[in-house]
Amino acid sequence: MEKKQFQAESKRLLEMMINSIYTQKEIFLRELISNASDAIDKIYYKALTDDSLTFDKDSYYIKVLPDKASRTLTIRDTGIGMTKDELETNLGVIAKSGSLAFKKENETKDGHAIIGQFGVGFYSAFMVADVVTVISKALGSDTAYKWESTGADGYTIEPAEKDSVGTEITLKIKANTEEESYDEFLDEYRLKAIIKKYSDFIRYPIKMDISGKRLKEGSDSEFEDYREEQRINSMVPIWRKNKNELKDEDYENFYAEKHYGFDKPLKHIHISADGAVTYQAILFIPENIPFDYYSKEYEKGLELYANGVLIMNKCADLLPDYFSFVKGMVDSESLSLNISREMLQHDRQLKLIAKNIASKIKSQLQAMLKNEREKYEQFYKSFGRQLKYGIYSDYGSHKDVLQDLLLFYSSKEKKLVTLEEYIERMPAEQKYIYYATGESNERIEKLPQTELVADKGYEILYFTDDIDEFAIKMLMTYKEKEFKSVSSGDLGIEPDENDSNTDAENGDNKELFDYMASLLAGKVTSVKASKRLKSHPVCLSTDGDVTIEMEKILNALPNNPNVKANKVLEINIHHDVFNSLKDAFTHDKEKLNLYTGLLYNQALLIEGLPLQDPVEFTNDICKIMV
Ligand code: ADP
Repeated sequence: MEKKQFQAESKRLLEMMINSIYTQKEIFLRELISNASDAIDKIYYKALTDDSLTFDKDSYYIKVLPDKASRTLTIRDTGIGMTKDELETNLGVIAKSGSLAFKKENETKDGHAIIGQFGVGFYSAFMVADVVTVISKALGSDTAYKWESTGADGYTIEPAEKDSVGTEITLKIKANTEEESYDEFLDEYRLKAIIKKYSDFIRYPIKMDISGKRLKEGSDSEFEDYREEQRINSMVPIWRKNKNELKDEDYENFYAEKHYGFDKPLKHIHISADGAVTYQAILFIPENIPFDYYSKEYEKGLELYANGVLIMNKCADLLPDYFSFVKGMVDSESLSLNISREMLQHDRQLKLIAKNIASKIKSQLQAMLKNEREKYEQFYKSFGRQLKYGIYSDYGSHKDVLQDLLLFYSSKEKKLVTLEEYIERMPAEQKYIYYATGESNERIEKLPQTELVADKGYEILYFTDDIDEFAIKMLMTYKEKEFKSVSSGDLGIEPDENDSNTDAENGDNKELFDYMASLLAGKVTSVKASKRLKSHPVCLSTDGDVTIEMEKILNALPNNPNVKANKVLEINIHHDVFNSLKDAFTHDKEKLNLYTGLLYNQALLIEGLPLQDPVEFTNDICKIMV
């Protein structure tokens, strides 16, 4: 018979996984049982929505059959089965298009995370087996088919005998090697323990034939051998269990089992609501950013169950965009099973659940911020950006929900602080919440524009994310305090009495400044004596709503809106450079020309803006050197 090849990518991925990815080999069983359970879910769901099918709960189960003599382990289910085509497409191709490029790039870095993202569950069987044989008969089909593969070098499919609908997967367990023993996967008690550990909550019975010794009936000293079929799992879904009975580990296992992520969840939220709407939910905040999180490919959503039956894999309506990083599931008795997706969107119950969930997530995050600051900062590092987008989007309508969850780096504390913490520390006379924007904290720290504010002893928040300033503009105020960029025209700080009056200085030097401004026409709107500079000779500030940082970001957009900030060149009149300017103004206009250009370019550099003509700039510097 012709042997079909796995797609090239599948093959590579398969080898990679077999050799290195899953460190715990035992989880192959969890994967196969979970597939079996899904397959039964499908037939169950069909029966519930299709009158021509009847569903007899007792005839649906998963059976695990080890056989030491033939060194095989069989997992049998009475699920929906697979047709020949399905065997081919479901088991013959691992890699789904679109994800390929990513895999190539990352496979050496962290194979672990990748595999989890693609749910190659079935293939984990090859970690413990040399040969995997799948015999399956699909619902409504007369013929069964046998799929068989020895791993990376391809698979065969041929017709086979099977009486009932369902799937039977047989693993030819590997021979022991010097480093690894595979015998455990044929041992009843070991298998029983693995099932208990990972698959306890599966809704259908997982059965095994167990042998052992027990007291003979009616005797208190005589033992007899027995062999009987037992149900191994408790069948209570984890979300129906009492929170007190569950350990972190149980939630972590559930997270892994469900392929929510390959990291450990940073936090789980177990909700059991019984009020206006009844539902249970287990939600997770992942520890790591999913690789595609900040891309268009990322789909938010929670698994949705109606009374224990999975009806949708990713229900997007259950999560607001700003909490799109949350993973997990919701089960509700209040939802009808045969509700269509279109109707679901308008379902009142679903809306209530979504609202409830959003507020639960918010309060959990708030509690984490309050009680587990380090953990929260870790969360914020991954998903803080998303919260800020949340504030900015929908015309700021979520700002009240999100503003208390924000963190920014503080010039004073040298760590992340909340807006509330900032406000609490504000001296009485301080009018505004000050912030400075830039590429990194280190760069912002050195910005001349921060001098006066810092000198006053005021705290400055550092904005290093491109979304920061936009989000803040949307907030406008926090606890009635306005935000103010350290580069904005009016800082709202009264000059000290012994500081010379810069307004008067501006008047005295009007001619000089106007002249300089004319030299820089089209580049700056005016030249002024600075109120904010202490030791630096020059900086740029802005007049109006658009700041330089915003100009940079907006103009980097694909459909460049060509927004311009009104830039002001500020000169420190207490700096020696100013004397040189005055001198040049009266005696040497050519020199003033040169100085003005140099100062302007310096201000651009400080701001992290590109120079229009770097060669000219260096030539100009050479001019003053010789
Ligand atoms: P995943 O379960 O994440 O989709 P798998 O590689 O484990 O990935 O399985 C691929 C597909 O094969 C499943 O989505 C399902 O359609 C099908 N499949 C696997 N095992 C079974 C089974 N026991 N019964 C029916 N279909 C199955």
